[in-house]
Formats: sequence, C-alpha cells, structure tokens
Amino acid sequence: MNPLPDRTRVIIIGAGFAGAAAAWALGQTDLGPGIIVEREPTPGVHASGRNAALVRVVETDPVMRTLALRSVAHIRRLADGHGELIRSTGSLTLAGRGNLRRLEAAHAALRQARIASELLPLRDARQRFAFLERMQFEAALWCPADGIADIHALLMTYLEQAKAKNFELHAGCGADRLLIEGSRVVGVAIGDAEIRADVVVDATGAWAGLLTRERSPLPLQPFRRHLYVSGPLTYVGRSWPYVWLMDGEAYLRPEGDGLLLSPCDETPWPPGAPPTDPTTAILLAEKLSRCAPGLADLTLRQSWACLRTFAPDRRPVIGPDPVLQGLYHVSGLGGSGMTASAAIGELVAAAIAGTRPDWLDPATVVPARFSVPGDARVQ
Ligand SMILES: Cc1cc2nc3c(=O)[nH]c(=O)nc-3n(C[C@H](O)[C@H](O)[C@H](O)COP(=O)(O)OP(=O)(O)OC[C@H]3O[C@@H](n4cnc5c(N)ncnc54)[C@H](O)[C@@H]3O)c2cc1C
Repeated sequence: MNPLPDRTRVIIIGAGFAGAAAAWALGQTDLGPGIIVEREPTPGVHASGRNAALVRVVETDPVMRTLALRSVAHIRRLADGHGELIRSTGSLTLAGRGNLRRLEAAHAALRQARIASELLPLRDARQRFAFLERMQFEAALWCPADGIADIHALLMTYLEQAKAKNFELHAGCGADRLLIEGSRVVGVAIGDAEIRADVVVDATGAWAGLLTRERSPLPLQPFRRHLYVSGPLTYVGRSWPYVWLMDGEAYLRPEGDGLLLSPCDETPWPPGAPPTDPTTAILLAEKLSRCAPGLADLTLRQSWACLRTFAPDRRPVIGPDPVLQGLYHVSGLGGSGMTASAAIGELVAAAIAGTRPDWLDPATVVPARFSVPGDARVQ
C-alpha cells in the first residue's frame, strides 16, 4: 500500500458496498485518482461482509426495484472472468390468506417491469418444489431472476477494478473529521495527517452523517438484525431457491449443510458492532412454528447481528450534500444495499460528474429531499 497522499481528486470514506461500488463506478468514468479510507483493518467487517447475500429484485417500491434490476445486470457483466458473483437460484415468496393481495401486487409489479415471475397456487408450488411441504402458505411467487451472491468476491471485485483505475484502498485509516473551509469540504483529517481533495464521499454505513452532524445532519437510523445458521439438515438441497415467508416476515436459504435464517427483526441501534440478543432466537422459533412448521425442530449453531441503516422513506441517500459543497453521500442502503450496490455507485458517480441519468430520477434519492424549506443551513 502506498503512503497516504497530501492531495487527491476524490476521497471516499468507508469500504463497504457503498464506498467500494462508488469507487468502482467513479473509476469506470475516469473520475479518479482517488483513495478509499476504511477505519477497519479490512473491508467488509460490518454490514457488507455479514449480510444474508440474497439478491432480491422482488421489490414493491419502484425506485428500489429499478436500482436492484440495473445493479444485478451490472454485476452479472462484472462477473465475466471473475467467477460466479451471483448464483441464480431464484426465490419463492410465500403468502397465506391474509397476504395474498400483497403477493399479487408484487407479482403485478414484476410483470409490469417485465421480470419473469409466476404466481403459483399451493398445490402447483408443492408439486414443483417438494420441500415446500414443510411450509404453510396459500400461494407462492416464483422469481427466477433472484439468487445468492458471493458477497466477499463482489466487494473485492469492486475494489480491484477501482484500484486498476487509480482508486487505492487505505485500510486501518479512520477519517476523524472533515476539513471544511466556509461552506466547502476540502478534505479529510486522519490523525495528524490532512488530505485535501476536490470531492469527499461519505459512505460510512451506520456512521453516515456523523462527520457533518452539526452542519448538515441526515435523518438516518441504523437497525439491528440477526442472522442464524442451523445445524446440519439432511433434507436441504444446495440448489433450493431462497424462501421469503411473507406472513411471518422471515427468510431462509441453504448455507453449507444447513440453513441460514433471519426473523427479520428490526431494533433501533447506535452505530457500531451490535451484540446478539438471545431472545431473538425465540422470535425465530415462533415464526417458523407458524409459517414453516416442518422446520420448527432445527437447532441453531451460529448467530450474529449487524446494522441496516435507513432513511425515513427507506430509499438510499445518494448525491450532493444540500449544505456543504464538495461533499457527496452514499448512505441509507438499508436491507438491499448489496443487491443495489452497482446502480448506487453509478448514481453517485453521475452526481459527481454532473450528468443526469436517464434511468432514474435522482430527486427520488438525493439528500436534499429531507431539507426543510426555509432552513438557513440549506441556502
Ligand atoms: C443482517 C443483514 C442482512 C442483510 N441482508 C442483505 C441481503 O440479503 N441482500 C442485500 O442486498 N443486502 C442485505 N443487507 C444490507 C446490506 O448489507 C447493506 O445495505 C450494505 O452492506 C451497506 O453497505 P455500506 O457500505 O453502506 O455499510 P457498511 O458495510 O457498514 O460499510 C461502511 C464502512 O464505513 C466504515 N467507516 C465508518 N466510519 C468511518 C470513518 N470515519 N472512517 C473510515 N471508515 C469508516 C466502516 O468501518 C464500514 O466498513 C443486509 C444487512 C444486514 C445487517
């Protein structure tokens, strides 16, 4: 690793999916050179290296669906010559009577977006996917476009391709504060070192906005979520699609010789590495006994928790800071930041280049959507 420069064109703070995909996209458009500074000794220590790896285009929000679809297309192209970044397993979203309307709406949205999908009544679904005998539902939405990502390979692919375009990662380097002159961000302080840049990108995940909270606060909230890995299960096939249980709000997919599961818990939590809460396993057991009784007796051998960070409207926050010039945000990636990462990187690169994408209205994701009209800080 080269020493930190005194000056560069772009500084990206954070090397999770937000920062890595931003560096990749900036590199693709020759907007370097730049550096990525990451406080941890390696990238992907937090949400980006500890998520469920579900590639999910079954999104009801049109903005999230557009981001997911565009991103998945980019990632599949990126995979050329880099092994398999996404394993196409498909997904099954299961709904009981009370959720049939939601399932039908999700199906209609996919059809409108021309994404292959099928709405299967209970009998047809069980005939096609025998393991669904273990689950309780009325209808299933089959979406073959979904899959499972190799999250570590994807993160490293972004970083390697960014490096080839002059964006070097400096791990173990926490940005302590921003250098601000008037209303312009002109760089970053790391310990005693000051690095100046034309553009600074805040891609700090659960910590997003903390460096500017006095001058330009962002309404972001991290939430803790748990993941579990079961003990060995002889009946689980590695090629199973992942399963989203709409009634219980839980999901599961094959992992090693067992299953990876989440009860989709959501507890507000301060930025950091959250501890696990043993009572959440009880929540998972309760959801499984209701929606997947054939799995209710599995044992859990591993658990961890991590943070998903959301804006109030649950859309990401991408674009120029409304108050501080020279500062851009890529944050609030929520629960599908890995899936949407490539398109999110593309959007921030477009914002920095000053070009307007023709595939999504940037107004739907810019930080300024939260600005209070008449607020002096927004002048
Ligand atoms: C349990 C769980 C399951 C999930 N499952 C899925 C899924 O199946 N599919 C999907 O698409 N998405 C999923 N997600 C969401 C996805 O993981 C996140 O949206 C995404 O990883 C967020 O990326 P990020 O780069 O914004 O944040 P992070 O991965 O947290 O990266 C931010 C980085 O910034 C660094 N940083 C912070 N402050 C500083 C500083 N001052 N200086 C330098 N570095 C700093 C941190 O160390 C960190 O590495 C899941 C998330 C969780 C928690």
